[in-house]
Amino acid sequence: MRTVEDLRTILARIDGRGYKAYKDLQGAYAFPWFTLFVDHVQGDPFASPSKIRVRVSAAVAKLPPDLFSSRVRRVALQDFLIREVHHAIRHVCQGNRGMGKSGLVFIDVGGQEILERTAMKVTPEWVEARLSLGLPAQGRTVLGRQAEAMLCREVPALAERALKWEHVEREQARAFVACVDNQESIRAQLDALGLVAFIADGALLPRSSGASDRPLSRQWAQPFHTPASLRVSIPLLHPVSRDGRLTHSITGCGIPQGVTLIVGGGYHGKSTVLRALERGVYPHVPEDGREYVVTTERAVKIRAEDGRSIERVDISGFINNVPYGRETTQFSTDNASGSTSQAASILEAVEVGATALLLDEDTSATNFMVRDARMQVLVHKEHEPITPFVDRVRELYERYGVSTVLVMGGCGDYFDVADTVMAMRDYQPLDVTADAQHIAQVFPAQRAIETTSPLAGGTSRVPVRDSLDSSRGNREIKIEARSVDAITFGHEVINMSGVEQLVDVSQTRAVGYALHLASRRFLDGRMGIKAIVQGLVEQFDDAGLDGLDPYHQGERHPGNFARPRAFEIAAALNRLRTLRIRE
Ligand code: ADP
Ligand code: MG
Repeated sequence: MRTVEDLRTILARIDGRGYKAYKDLQGAYAFPWFTLFVDHVQGDPFASPSKIRVRVSAAVAKLPPDLFSSRVRRVALQDFLIREVHHAIRHVCQGNRGMGKSGLVFIDVGGQEILERTAMKVTPEWVEARLSLGLPAQGRTVLGRQAEAMLCREVPALAERALKWEHVEREQARAFVACVDNQESIRAQLDALGLVAFIADGALLPRSSGASDRPLSRQWAQPFHTPASLRVSIPLLHPVSRDGRLTHSITGCGIPQGVTLIVGGGYHGKSTVLRALERGVYPHVPEDGREYVVTTERAVKIRAEDGRSIERVDISGFINNVPYGRETTQFSTDNASGSTSQAASILEAVEVGATALLLDEDTSATNFMVRDARMQVLVHKEHEPITPFVDRVRELYERYGVSTVLVMGGCGDYFDVADTVMAMRDYQPLDVTADAQHIAQVFPAQRAIETTSPLAGGTSRVPVRDSLDSSRGNREIKIEARSVDAITFGHEVINMSGVEQLVDVSQTRAVGYALHLASRRFLDGRMGIKAIVQGLVEQFDDAGLDGLDPYHQGERHPGNFARPRAFEIAAALNRLRTLRIRE
């Protein structure tokens, strides 16, 4: 293996030469206490940055083994170390040193959620940070001295600060891992407690703005207080400090399985609760305010999404007898309406194992949600293809075990079908279940229930083999995440803006590559969508995310990926306009 001295010699030699000379750097370098791998060298100063890895042996890093003794803890520790590197970059790196990305160092750091990421890997033998950097240039000329400062001074300083236990924020690291461990242990207890979600007393749900996922300042945010009738206490793995003392359990609001309605006046905080539940499928960083808002991992947000494509979904339980006799038992369209999109999204989520649906009136199609007594008289059932959600929501729970949490401030017809009704008033929850049930008796809705046949659920559609093609032009694989909401897949762009539980662009990128992997490994024309996404999940569990990029070889920088859920992978497949399902 080359040494630091070799690295310095190469940089001195190529100083002032054309940018391509940087290619000579590719390879591994033994530094006195770590190894630097230069895996990919960018073609010019404006191209996507070069990829390097910094590996520190366990003997040097001395990370306490109990902080990565389980998958949950390892993911948490890795995530913490990524944040440490990110901070260290700001302290020790000079920043821009020339054209384009010259001089910049990056690590793929997450936001408020904690996800399994390829940017950091902790094993019993070593810890490795996967970084990107812009090799410095003036015009197209190598700046060798600047590169030396980056690789031989800044990179070691980064590793020193962020990858050696003696220099990281040790108390914070322990608290971070314990907090994630607690969140996952709450999640693991939800089913047994008969809950779909838990919101701790004191949680701060509102965000600082519509454009930021950071918490609203404590000065303005009203902490969550659970009404006594919904209060539960859940034991924790690690003690937490509450009101100045340590406790081994946490109290808060249990959202029961079944049908839960969140009602209340406009602007009283209903949607804020639902958004916290949507994000609660992922662990959050301490101080997020939602770190103890925990939702079952099988909860799926459903919204209207007109314009999306639908491929052979049996939506007849919701929409039947459309004009001119079109079949809705295998409904396909390139341009769904609000109601057909919402129906399809529900059945697709149930198809891959959702056990809870999260809906908000703000993002639902009105005609999908409600049809009141007067409208039933004016527009007769035989002229209305839609069976509204209010007539299916109990069946979803009772027959398929799928709970619903629904924000609905505008229609009382749901009182008849709800198990729990929570009202938000001045940002505080109240249990108004008894009131709502009483009102439902005193003021009957007088509407007729419109279900004629049972809802078809639990089917698994089988994609046709060549539905997925990631090639474009002379590129065999063209996959890109342009933003968290858009996946370029070959010639197609998959619009993920209606898939609201995708939270990170590296997750979106991983979804794109997961589809490619599925097309190579699982799409045999016999496997159903459920088995396909399960195959991917097993692959991630066994081998992690390092192998997602098919061009990735052996031990090299794997690219920046964060782990998506099976639901979001299935959602992307279902929105790919080339998807074909077998009849
Ligand atoms: P709704 O869905 O009931 O109309 P929203 O959830 O959209 O209400 O909330 C309205 C506003 O109140 C938002 O700006 C939100 O950030 C803020 N808000 C929500 N919950 C709280 C809270 N607990 N403390 C302070 N502000 C809050
Ligand atoms: Mg709202």
